[in-house]
Amino acid sequence: MDLIKYLEFKERLRNRLENELSEESIERARRDPHARRYPRPCGMTIHTGVGCTYSCTYCYIYDMGFPHRAVPYPLSGKELLYALTLNPYVVLGPGGTMLAIGSVTEPFLPETRERALEYIEVLGPLGNPLQISSKSVLSDDYIIRIREHAPRISFLETVVCLRDCRKIEPLAPDPVDRLRFAGRLVKAGINVSLFIRPIIPGITDRDAREILSMARELGVRSVVLGTLRVTAGIYERLRAVSIDLSLRLPGSKLGKEQVPIRARDLKDKISSIARGMGFRVYESACGANIEASGLGCYACKWGPCGDMSKLPNMDANEVNEFIKHLGYSGHVEQLRDNRIVIRLDRGDARRVEALLRELLRREVIIRGFARHRCLGSICSDFD
Ligand code: SF4
Repeated sequence: MDLIKYLEFKERLRNRLENELSEESIERARRDPHARRYPRPCGMTIHTGVGCTYSCTYCYIYDMGFPHRAVPYPLSGKELLYALTLNPYVVLGPGGTMLAIGSVTEPFLPETRERALEYIEVLGPLGNPLQISSKSVLSDDYIIRIREHAPRISFLETVVCLRDCRKIEPLAPDPVDRLRFAGRLVKAGINVSLFIRPIIPGITDRDAREILSMARELGVRSVVLGTLRVTAGIYERLRAVSIDLSLRLPGSKLGKEQVPIRARDLKDKISSIARGMGFRVYESACGANIEASGLGCYACKWGPCGDMSKLPNMDANEVNEFIKHLGYSGHVEQLRDNRIVIRLDRGDARRVEALLRELLRREVIIRGFARHRCLGSICSDFD
């Protein structure tokens, strides 16, 4: 694997965009968080809007200060792309950093839909593993546009309930319509997974068999499961609609920070029903993204994911050259199937970790002046 060519590609792209964009656009992109945010192990989140009108009771974005109305994200497609070329932690190109659209808003709200499409149109051709999560229902015209620009996109359609949805998702599209939309995506050849996240105790586990069975009939064959995370605000909002989580709270006192509830039993139960019906079950959304891209990944405790024969080759000399090309001083200490250990004497340890993790898709341990951070513990955020 030619690691340095990824850095060269990003530089060429940045130069090209600098020639195409106005000074004002360049300045806007430089100031934007996409130009510096550190990617999570599950990928770099891409924001298509600010705020969300669906107002789901379990949603964390309102506690983060986002409003119940939505406006498109302020960067144009090209500006977003330019911001990513400036981000020192992001690898662009086939097999590069996983990109995940839809973490702090619904991407396909009427207000933000065109922006989301604009981003898919610039990001799809890069070849990075690209994923989008949504509760929306789109027309066939939009499906065609998505397929045209991002044929390998991993599309997650969220359905967490059938009966009591208006209690917890008052303004989102009807879940049965969402399932039918997932079926149309399947028919269009798009890689779609059912997204059962967050699992709401007493609601999702009660409806899971029916949701899975309808999805299966419509041709969906994979599912991503995820635990509910609560703040004090989410806990109270759910309590107000008679969802009592008091027996499932973690030991610590609830505040503004999101913490997962204790629901491993529910996740295991739904996972077992899904497997029994022949679904592929992903513990983490990025597993679906890796598989849709035809790649393999061994970067965290949830792995290995995807096609392990597609894991990139690791060559110690090449990694040493890559570190040198970054202007840093260090070398490979150990190579194993699922892990690489680097001794870094000078340089940005977080950058080396992110770039090599994304390029080699293994756990990366940095020794030297920087302490190793366990990817597994970060990934458990998405349990
Ligand atoms: S091993 Fe799987 S779950 Fe872990 S980071 Fe890779 S794709 Fe994600």
